[in-house]
Amino acid sequence: MALRLFNTLSRSTQEFVPLDPAGRRVGLYCCGPTVHDFAHIGNFRTFVFADLVRRHLQFKGFDVRHVMNITDVEDKIIRRVAETKMSLKEYTRQYEAAFFEDFQALSCLSPHQTPHATEHIADIIGLIQKLADRGLAYRAADGSVYFSIEKYRAGGARYGQLVNLNFDEMRPGERVASDEYAKESAADFALWKARAAADGAVFWPSPWGEGRPGWHIECSAMSMKMLGSSFDLHLGGEDLIFPHHEDEIAQSEGAGAQEGGRPFVKYWMHGAYLLVEGKKMSKSLGNFFTLRDLLRQGFTGREIRCALLTAHYRESFNFTLDGLRGARAALARLDECLAKLREKAGGATSAPEGELVGKFSAALDEDFNISGAWGAVFDWVRENNRLMGSGEATPARAAAALAAWEKINSVLALGRAEDSEVPAELQALLEDRQAARKARDFKRADVLRDELKTRGWVIEDTPKGARLKKV
Ligand SMILES: [Zn+2]
Repeated sequence: MALRLFNTLSRSTQEFVPLDPAGRRVGLYCCGPTVHDFAHIGNFRTFVFADLVRRHLQFKGFDVRHVMNITDVEDKIIRRVAETKMSLKEYTRQYEAAFFEDFQALSCLSPHQTPHATEHIADIIGLIQKLADRGLAYRAADGSVYFSIEKYRAGGARYGQLVNLNFDEMRPGERVASDEYAKESAADFALWKARAAADGAVFWPSPWGEGRPGWHIECSAMSMKMLGSSFDLHLGGEDLIFPHHEDEIAQSEGAGAQEGGRPFVKYWMHGAYLLVEGKKMSKSLGNFFTLRDLLRQGFTGREIRCALLTAHYRESFNFTLDGLRGARAALARLDECLAKLREKAGGATSAPEGELVGKFSAALDEDFNISGAWGAVFDWVRENNRLMGSGEATPARAAAALAAWEKINSVLALGRAEDSEVPAELQALLEDRQAARKARDFKRADVLRDELKTRGWVIEDTPKGARLKKV
């Protein structure tokens, strides 16, 4: 069955047909993290969504090339670097490492390439030069180089492909230097920012003097370098539609590298935002969660991934701790069914039964209808429980069911129950508790046991020693 997806560019659901004439290779770019701090759960909603898209394309037999940039120079990072007095590299490296730890905890497949902006300064300068040669970039009095929306439009190009912009109020030559700016305020944006005192040691030489790239040009330069000047899929959070993605189109198409009227990107997909406990996430409201905050509370990456996969990617999602506990319960039901199937199957092997695979895949083919996909999974759980309860299940049938599960789990990537490891911090608490017992400090041992319990884990004594088990 053909995959259909909602393309922000056409504002409609379209059949996915790759640019590759053989229909096999797919180029996928997803805007990666700005490594200025630990990524929060809203950021990870986007990355889990991108992972679902990639895995489903692979499941359908496409040969996906996945690129995700690392933004390691931009306004926020520079501010933090100045505050901490660290070097740019030292500062960003720690958050990049933390990001990939979190990324893996959520079972997201590693992109094939993760280019860093600071390692592609020459490519970025080359792209700005092309825009300058075509009369679309100019140096302003502040020494920075800007993209001219007026010139771009005068050449017949359309600025405002992803959003409708009102140009009536736009004054020609109005400029914005900062990387992030208000919606609908179309203005010339910075491609190269002239070195300022606040930048400290963060600057590179360029034909326009010392400075650093703007954020938007980073993605245009790196995506086209890795995937070609025209590629299939560009993903990101909906907050990036304007100005970031609109500016990416203007820069990339403005440079004119595409052949035969091809667009820079054929399909744009955007994940909706995430609320936490019904509100916009904010540190002052106490509903701001990084992935590590949740792992520290005893939730596993598997449970968090499952929770993030409950809502359709284009619907705003209310992330709650109750929802996470719901995901834990749903996984427990699934795991119980799988354990029974494994027991029944014994060593039997079989080809996957078609019904689950067919329904699951058909649901995802409809613009990643994850609710339909879950519906197929839980109908299957119910049916298998019924068959096993009534004694109708045979080892061959159980093996076929398991093989079907393995197949769709290559897309869901929920691993196996026994893979869900005890978070290192809780394991350390358990060891402290054992040490306290050994030292006959029972008061402290009890405090640690209670601490583990409030985080959702109980201590189980086994012949191999104490271990933690989920409540
Ligand atoms: Zn980007």
